[in-house]
Amino acid sequence: MGLLDGRKALIFGVANDHSIAWGIAKALHAEGATIGFSSVEMLIEKRVRPLATSIGSDFVEPCDVQDDDQIERVFQAWAERYGDLDILVHALAFARREDLEGEFVDTSREGFALALDVSAYSLVAITRHALPVLKPGSSILTLTYYGAEKVVANYNVMGVAKAALEACVRYLAADLGPRDIRVNAISAGPIRTLAASGVSGFKGMWSRFRDVAPMRRNVTIEDVGGAALFLLSDLSRSITGEVLYVDAGFSILGVPTSEEG
Ligand code: NAD
Repeated sequence: MGLLDGRKALIFGVANDHSIAWGIAKALHAEGATIGFSSVEMLIEKRVRPLATSIGSDFVEPCDVQDDDQIERVFQAWAERYGDLDILVHALAFARREDLEGEFVDTSREGFALALDVSAYSLVAITRHALPVLKPGSSILTLTYYGAEKVVANYNVMGVAKAALEACVRYLAADLGPRDIRVNAISAGPIRTLAASGVSGFKGMWSRFRDVAPMRRNVTIEDVGGAALFLLSDLSRSITGEVLYVDAGFSILGVPTSEEG
């Protein structure tokens, strides 16, 4: 018996096998969930479909989350194929490379709007389009980062977008609670993915993380998958509107010190 036997999950944001969304997909699959994917069109044939096939999934729909029509098409296709939905995962974000380096004060109006639209508003849009198929008892999860709360060099506009995303989680959780639909976020420590490589200086920050984090190690997509399984299953049935840290303890530190002092 798997924790998610008979449950149906739709996951947005797999780019490749390093994606956090893929770590979550593997964890849900291992507990018996039926899984479908949505990703940007250009990634599908080369990257996403082979991964989907490897866990027995053939539902892979293209979607640019800036386009409401494309979002609607994904959920229409889902409704036709599966009828309803128990689990929705939003694991995507985007900002221009030039807005992920240097000073935040230089962020352009367009760059700000783009980052907030793709990285925060998309959770609201996807959730709204999902409502007709989401069952009572279902659970929604998004991914955030500590840069929402504290200043992290070069994270800049994405920190502002993650702060908005975390507020969206709380407002959506309040809206959907009466329908018995939960909304939560995982705040993951740094993981080497395609999106992370867009943040200037990420590699250095990633390699110093394990010297400082209380557990003296980096975080993996499997670590995030395990916590996601908890938040997306009935084990967390009275938890909503929360941000759960999967960061080897980094966020508890006031003044980070390493082994060297
Ligand atoms: P990733 O590059 O594997 O995934 C990012 C995904 O966003 C990709 O699949 C990409 O196609 C998708 N995307 C970008 N613009 C899109 C659009 N307009 N429409 C649809 N999809 C779009 O990287 P990841 O690190 O796995 O990112 C997943 C989530 O985790 C993001 O929200 C990211 O901010 C968050 N996160 C990452 C880290 C980290 O260190 N990697 C830490 C905390 C939170």
